[in-house]
Amino acid sequence: MKVILPAVVICFSLIPACSAVLPLVINTWPFKDATAKAWSTLHSGGSVLDAVEKGCTQCEIQQCDGSVGYGGSPDETGETTLDAMIMNGDTMEVGAVGDLRRIKNAIGVARTVMERSKHTFLVGESASVFAENMGFSAEDLSTNQSRNIFSKWLNENCQPNFRQRVSPDPTKSCGPYKPSATLLEQRRRDQTIDIHGHDTIGMIVINQAGQVAAGTSTNGARHKVPGRVGDSPIAGAGAYADSTVGGAAATGDGDIMMRFLPSYLAVEQMRAGIDPSTACRTAITRIKKYFPGFFGAIVCANTTGSYGAACNKLPEFSKFPFMVFNKNSNGPIKETVDCI
Ligand code: ASP
Repeated sequence: MKVILPAVVICFSLIPACSAVLPLVINTWPFKDATAKAWSTLHSGGSVLDAVEKGCTQCEIQQCDGSVGYGGSPDETGETTLDAMIMNGDTMEVGAVGDLRRIKNAIGVARTVMERSKHTFLVGESASVFAENMGFSAEDLSTNQSRNIFSKWLNENCQPNFRQRVSPDPTKSCGPYKPSATLLEQRRRDQTIDIHGHDTIGMIVINQAGQVAAGTSTNGARHKVPGRVGDSPIAGAGAYADSTVGGAAATGDGDIMMRFLPSYLAVEQMRAGIDPSTACRTAITRIKKYFPGFFGAIVCANTTGSYGAACNKLPEFSKFPFMVFNKNSNGPIKETVDCI
């Protein structure tokens, strides 16, 4: 007897709703307008790069949870600086910016680095000058909200902070510094431990033809040391895309996560035939082995449209929300995964 199998790919996923259809947009956190924007960009004929750029730009405009775009995460001098990247999984080209100042559309600048220069990654003041030369407008990235966060921090003797084993001359800088905690502990002290209250947008878009692009955008860590660049703009750390395999994008404590290139690791796992959920879990487990208390999560998808996610379980953080929009959805769907 001939058995006819249904023409669907089975997802070996812990996520019940995981279904393998294309096109697919998946992103970290419940940033649904960004998901919808990426989907509509694709639907109206845009490329996967256009979809990632427009989706992440939407979050930059909306200042998603105060952690993407202008007016969030002031550094030790009160300035908001931005990190972003975009990757073309067909050509393996990447454009990235770190410590970008004065320019609101960080992922737009990242794409311009990729398409209008032979470089991959520009940082700091020079990245901002490049952006201005390319026609991006220079604006103050501070807002009343970021100024308030900064003054509160100053009034609290610059606590929390990212310094350790340092006793700066108090006449020259704010302090005395106390050792920094992990990003999650720091956020708890900031009373911002609300999973809807932060984080990098990391997005993967795969079209019907299986072309993959991925990108990220964030304003990084609150009260960071000026010059700090996180994991988000680093290819393989913040995100990675390869149209022969799939893509991955991460969020969390970038100072730790960037040491493990979790997005690259997840894509390489999928290249070896591992399903996206397991690939995501492997990337988190690798970090957890060395930093059990780290705060982080990752989303992964392969070119069949199968997807998954994983996060590190902490007392305050046991489920990670992310957004999915694929051919089977009527709109952006919020899913969650149990942390490991
Ligand atoms: N990964 C970002 C950074 O460390 C922050 C985050 O995703 O929470 O800059």
